[in-house]
Amino acid sequence: MPPFSSNPSLLSKSSDHHETLIHYPLSHPNQVPIVEDVEEEEEMKDDLVPEDEVHKPMDSVKPKTDQSFIYIDNSNWSIVWTNVIFFIILHAVHIYGIYYLIKIKPYPSWIFSWFWGTWGGFGITAGAHRLWSHRSYKARLPLRIFLMIGQTIAGQNNLYVWSRDHRVHHKFSETDADPHNSHRGFFFAHMGWLLFKKHPDVLKKGKTLDCSDLMKDPVVRFQVRYYYWLLLVWGMLIPWLVPVFLWNETLSGSFLINVISRYVTSLHCTWFVNSTAHMFGNRPYNHKIGPCENLFVSYGAHGEGYHNYHHTFPYDYATSELGFSLNITKVFIDTAAYFGLAYDLKRVSRSIIEKRKAAVEKALQVES
Ligand SMILES: [Zn+2]
Ligand SMILES: [Zn+2]
Repeated sequence: MPPFSSNPSLLSKSSDHHETLIHYPLSHPNQVPIVEDVEEEEEMKDDLVPEDEVHKPMDSVKPKTDQSFIYIDNSNWSIVWTNVIFFIILHAVHIYGIYYLIKIKPYPSWIFSWFWGTWGGFGITAGAHRLWSHRSYKARLPLRIFLMIGQTIAGQNNLYVWSRDHRVHHKFSETDADPHNSHRGFFFAHMGWLLFKKHPDVLKKGKTLDCSDLMKDPVVRFQVRYYYWLLLVWGMLIPWLVPVFLWNETLSGSFLINVISRYVTSLHCTWFVNSTAHMFGNRPYNHKIGPCENLFVSYGAHGEGYHNYHHTFPYDYATSELGFSLNITKVFIDTAAYFGLAYDLKRVSRSIIEKRKAAVEKALQVES
């Protein structure tokens, strides 16, 4: 029995031991709709790129696109001044923290800060993203608690809000309904989206997604209920005070390095996925969408830079066809699976990937 129920809007039983996975809620109108049989790979192949369409240009393969999704309304730029002031102060302190790091060279705190930031990173990549947003694998209770704490350490809002926003991002990618729509520019996609009021479409179309599955997980419910207390303890007090008691780090130095600089650095690592990996890189799996493959982002964001692959196959737990290449989140999940803490890891078959790439290459040849 799985530790928590699967999203009823994603999974439907077609027989006693046979599930059909419908990826509609997280797909984008510019993508080929995928109806995957998780047990029979042959059906996956047929559903992703039908045999008779493999050699057609991509325009004929992709479904009809609702043009209302494409319209970008740049008139909505209401500034949220409290957030602007918060981020200015945060970055000013962060810059002083970098200066302190270089001048004083507190090596134990460097290591501790890296460790704490890495835990927080896995909370985002293996937890909020690949587990809760995409359901690309399942995790037993100890792993879910570990990832929930990590996601709290990262301080990027609670699991429900994070996962809901990310599902909206996938469903309405690069439209006004995308919270960090990269068509509004690099800065907006990176962090500007937190400095402006949400576009009305984000709220309106976001409500059309069913995220009720998230709150069925008691771990998510607990975190949402006590989020700010958990954030205070795991995101601030523990990383601040442990170095003070264990190796006599100064209070001010520990606050600068292990709270502020660690936090700001991890924020930018996440934000680069929304900005850089939506603008710079190649698009071998779907050249009609903005997300691209970017090694720099993969390095900084625990393997989340294979973004063209990820937006094409959002249910793949590895978010890449490559092995362990800069993808330490895949290593983390594989290790968890080895110890029985993660299971039902979903992957895309090699044949589907090759067909997909061949279809894109063919389409590009036709276009050029
Ligand atoms: Zn995603
Ligand atoms: Zn994206």
